[in-house]
Amino acid sequence: MSHAVAPAPATVPIYLDHNATTRPVPEAVAAMVEALRETWANASSTHGPGQDARRLLAGARGRVAAFLGCQPAELVFTSGATEANHAALLGALQASGRARVVMSAVEHPGLLALAQRLRGRGVAVDLIPVDAQGRPSLAAARSLIADDVAVVSLMGANNETGVLMPVAEVAALARAAGAWMHVDATQLAGKAPLSFAASGADLMSVSAHKLGGPKGVGALIVRKGVALPPLLSGRQERNRRGGTENLPGIAGFAAACDRAAATLGADIERMRSLRDRLEHRLVQALPGVHVHGAGAERLCNTLCLRFGALDAEQVLAKLERAGIVASSGAACSAGGVEPSHVLLAMGESAPHARAGVRLSLGPQTTAADVEATVAAAIEHLRPLLAEAADTARQAAAAA
Ligand code: PMP
Repeated sequence: MSHAVAPAPATVPIYLDHNATTRPVPEAVAAMVEALRETWANASSTHGPGQDARRLLAGARGRVAAFLGCQPAELVFTSGATEANHAALLGALQASGRARVVMSAVEHPGLLALAQRLRGRGVAVDLIPVDAQGRPSLAAARSLIADDVAVVSLMGANNETGVLMPVAEVAALARAAGAWMHVDATQLAGKAPLSFAASGADLMSVSAHKLGGPKGVGALIVRKGVALPPLLSGRQERNRRGGTENLPGIAGFAAACDRAAATLGADIERMRSLRDRLEHRLVQALPGVHVHGAGAERLCNTLCLRFGALDAEQVLAKLERAGIVASSGAACSAGGVEPSHVLLAMGESAPHARAGVRLSLGPQTTAADVEATVAAAIEHLRPLLAEAADTARQAAAAA
C-alpha cells in the first residue's frame, strides 16, 4: 500500500509584474496554436497554403494597425520592441546623415545600451534630464533638439514608475528641427488609449507580450513617407524587415489586440481604481512609504515605491514568500544590485535607488489580490520597518 502523500496543491502566486510581461490571453494562445497547426506555410510562397498564410498575415496586420491607430501599410512586424527601437535609431542615423541622437535619461536599458554603443562609433547622444517626479525637462529638450539631430527618442510611459512622457510637446520640437520622432510605446499599449496617427510620432515601437500576446513579436510603425532603411535586409514586410514572418506570433499579437480593444476602457478604470487603493492602503498602513512619481501623471496600473530604506531584494523576497511576485527596477549584476537608473535620474540617492519596488497590475488583478498584498506587507514588512527605525534611533543616540 502506498503511503505517498498527495502533493500540496500548487499555489498560484499573485502576479503583480505586468510591466515585465503579461500572461498570454486565451484568444492569443488559441490563435497561435491554430497558426502552428494549420497555417504553417511560408507567407511568401505563391502556392495555395502560402496564400492562406499571406491572408492570415494581412488580416492580422489590419487588426493590430486598427488597435494602434495607424495604417496597415505603416506597420512593420518585428521580433519585439528591442528590435523596433534599434531599427528606428539606426535607420534614422543612416537615412539622415546626421550624427546626433537625443533621448530621455530614463529610457529602457536596451535603448541606453544602444546609445552607449553609438557613442563608441562617434555618434553624439544627449540625454534629456528628468525632474524628481520623473518628467523630462522641456527646457532641456528645447536646447538639445537642434537641426543636427537625426532622431529624438522618448518612451510613452516609463516601465519602472509608469510616469507618462510629454510625447506631443517633444514631437513638435523634433519636427521643428527636421529630426524624426521615435516613441517607445511598449508600456502604453494596452494600458492607455494609444493612437499613432494622433501622437505626432514618425516611428513607434510596441511589443505584444505587454498586452496579453506572446513574447518575441512586436512592431515598428513607420509613418507614411518616412523612408527608413531596414535593420534586417530581405524582401519581407515590403523590404522593410527581412526574415520569414513569425506568423504564429503575429496571429497571437492580433488576437491580443482584439481583446484589448474590446476591454481597454473598462480595464483602465479597474486597474486605476485597484492601483489607487493599493497605494492608499500601503501609505496609510506603513510608516516611511514613498511613492515614486506620485506627483506626475502615471499609467493606470503601476505603483513604484520604497518601503523606508528597505532593500528591494529583501522586500521582494518577503512578498514572494507570502505568495506575491513583483519586481524592482534595480538590476542584478555580478557585483551585486545596481541602483535603478530611472530613480537615480530622478535624484534619488544610490541606496534609495536600490530600494524601489514596482507593483504592476493587470486586467486580471482582483480586489482580493490587492487586499492580500496589503495584508502581506503589514505582516512581513512592518516588523522590518520597526527594526530599521530602532537601529536608526540607536545610531542617532550613539552619535
Ligand atoms: N521598451 C520598454 C519601455 C519596455 O518596457 C520593454 C520591455 N521590458 C522593451 C522596450 C523591450 O521589449 P521587448 O521585450 O519586446 O524587446
